[in-house]
Amino acid sequence: MKLSQRAQKLEPSVTLAAAAKAKALKAQGVDVLSLTVGEPDFITPKNIEEAAIAAITSGKASFYTQSAGIPELRQAVVDYMKNYYGLDYKVEETIITDGAKYALYNLFQAILDKDDEVIIPVPYWVSYGEQVKLAEGIPVYVNGGFENDFKVTVAQLEKVRTDKTVAIIINSPSNPTGMIYTKEELTAIGNWAVENDILIVADDIYGRLVYDDNKFTPIATLSDAIAKQTIVINGVSKTYSMTGWRIGFAVGDAKIIKAMTTIASQSTSNPTAASQYAALEALTGDQSSVEKMRVAFEERLNKLYPLIAAIPGVEVKKPQGAFYLFPNVKKTMAMCGYDDVNVFVEDLLEEGHVALVTGAGFGAPENVRISYAASWDVLEEAVRRMHKFVENKR
Ligand code: PLP
Repeated sequence: MKLSQRAQKLEPSVTLAAAAKAKALKAQGVDVLSLTVGEPDFITPKNIEEAAIAAITSGKASFYTQSAGIPELRQAVVDYMKNYYGLDYKVEETIITDGAKYALYNLFQAILDKDDEVIIPVPYWVSYGEQVKLAEGIPVYVNGGFENDFKVTVAQLEKVRTDKTVAIIINSPSNPTGMIYTKEELTAIGNWAVENDILIVADDIYGRLVYDDNKFTPIATLSDAIAKQTIVINGVSKTYSMTGWRIGFAVGDAKIIKAMTTIASQSTSNPTAASQYAALEALTGDQSSVEKMRVAFEERLNKLYPLIAAIPGVEVKKPQGAFYLFPNVKKTMAMCGYDDVNVFVEDLLEEGHVALVTGAGFGAPENVRISYAASWDVLEEAVRRMHKFVENKR
């Protein structure tokens, strides 16, 4: 049977592949600890589950909804943007999507023509480049670098800007690095994007998972001109522990949102109705569970970070947000006789029974990604096994 070039060229998601591999080993009875997936380990808060159940039993969840989402949820997104960003949007400037992932996919379909370029800071979330390619665009990668906390500068962006540059993706706090751009850094990037008419795709999905004294500044809040130049991508997956419900949203220019709505109408029809009612409760109901989960992540990070930093050869920056550590393991690998991070990660899984994600999928082949969205018992035992693995190999 024929397969399209597009499908053949597409890289599978390394994070989902790593998680699947760990699950397969577990199914064979191997005691594997998986620190692969990017999802909170908490059950969705009760009030949110109950809202979905009520939508189902009342019949509200039985039918198609508007392609851009139910009006109440779009209004809740408008209110969310007012409360958390201090920005005024209209309902026509919002769309509810099947997760933030589909918001991004749909956005690239809406804005890119063949060979249009999208600047993607490295390390990047695994799906950005592949989604750009699916829209026939070209991902242009710019390396943030360890010394600058993996963040890119305007000078670097200016070097890769061409007539074909249509958009830049800013993901702060970042998956996989956990780093947050400062207000000054974002202002410089925002002004540069405005001057050159480059759309800012602000993936703010980790914006409420920020730790210690760090502060998240959404780029859209930095000036009216920057707000107009920005499409904000967000969702309920990470903040409310709702990855399985698949609800995200995009906010910005009404013309782009309208195009995205048309694409949704011809592809997904609408996000699952019951999930939309759940997301409505998430955004408008009791917010106390958000802070409880954030504090739990912060406590784990503060305990885990020194333990990871103490593994021989590891160089690691302390993340400011999200729920990942992204250590450089080049020296550790050299000590243990590895020069390929994929092989290192594979052996750590098969021999050490700890599943991590290779940094290669994020454009950083000297790094591994460790998700600390797991219980402390699991994290502590995983670190013990990682130490043991490295000691055995040295
Ligand atoms: N953006 C980033 C940076 C992510 O890490 C993820 C999930 O891993 C998403 C977007 C997509 O989230 P969802 O589709 O679950 O809303």
